[in-house]
Amino acid sequence: MRGLYVHIPFCRAKCAYCDFASAPGTPMEIESYLEALAAEAALYPELKGGFRTLYVGGGTPSALSPGQLRRLFSALEGLTGPFRDLAEATFEANPESLDAEKAALLQGAGISRVSLGLQAAQDSLLKKLGRVAMKDDFVRAFAALREAGFADLNADLMCGLPGQTGRDLGESLDLLLGLGPEHVSLYALEVHEGTAFYAAGVKEEPEAAAGMYEAAAGALEKAGLLRYEISNFARPGRESLHNLNYWEQGEYLGLGTAAASYLRGERRANTPVTDDYVSALAAGRTPPAQYRERLEGRARTGERIMLGLRKTAGIELTDDIFIEFKAELDRLLKAGLVEIAGGRVRIRKDRLYVSNAVFREFV
Ligand code: SF4
Repeated sequence: MRGLYVHIPFCRAKCAYCDFASAPGTPMEIESYLEALAAEAALYPELKGGFRTLYVGGGTPSALSPGQLRRLFSALEGLTGPFRDLAEATFEANPESLDAEKAALLQGAGISRVSLGLQAAQDSLLKKLGRVAMKDDFVRAFAALREAGFADLNADLMCGLPGQTGRDLGESLDLLLGLGPEHVSLYALEVHEGTAFYAAGVKEEPEAAAGMYEAAAGALEKAGLLRYEISNFARPGRESLHNLNYWEQGEYLGLGTAAASYLRGERRANTPVTDDYVSALAAGRTPPAQYRERLEGRARTGERIMLGLRKTAGIELTDDIFIEFKAELDRLLKAGLVEIAGGRVRIRKDRLYVSNAVFREFV
């Protein structure tokens, strides 16, 4: 059973730190994109009914109008069957485009989980980030989702932002924990080339961010949201099944601009250029690939380790891991970065913030 990821590359405005495939879209562009998505979904009749989870991400999927959402869902149900029959169906939203009507529509369509972007609880920081929604918009959208009956909500939060203090982050956590989400994703700011932050010379502050991160992680765990992956915290039983499938090297199909797939040992991603994606499908062709590669042998095992070590539970230490990567594991054990217990290897909890140094060993 696989996961299905669907990318909606439209947002009201581009955030200053964002390097995802997303941009504001005109109504015409959105219409053509939805047609292209339906055409791409129809390319996989053999996968029909073989999905366990759905994740509609972006971009901002909630930027679609109610009519556009209905069309999108009906095209996707051709592949997944009724969303209600899936183990999990997640939808990403931003507060500026999520009202009571849309919350009810999502609930009626069988979406079981919504992920809502907060990032920070200070309007001054949100403005610096270029976010459209302010704190009160988040509180209103969160309440609308609860009102519509959603019992599984995630919120995204950021730390290491320019000018953000530990006190600011503490306030953001207080607001969030007061609302009681089932899941929180916490990210430290990364400044990528091509973003407005990069152009403005904003610098990452890894040490300050790591300190804030650890303090926030402690507060989340104290509130019963347990860290189960480097950046993700959940109440027991509310972990994201769709994302767990990625970290367990399960198969998934990605539809849309820049969407990645992993099927039958092949990893590929669609072009990140929406116009190229749409025009290929309008002409009856498969969308151009950004990359395409077959993972075999040591490379496949290395990737399984890298993905699995993202989970705080780590991975089972199987024979192939031990044989192929013994030297690397010895080095990491000696450096105190990983530990082995109960036949599993995992990154030490106090070393999760340097996980990239661990992953480099398995590339
Ligand atoms: S809302 Fe999300 S995807 Fe859209 S521009 Fe902002 S960070 Fe990027």
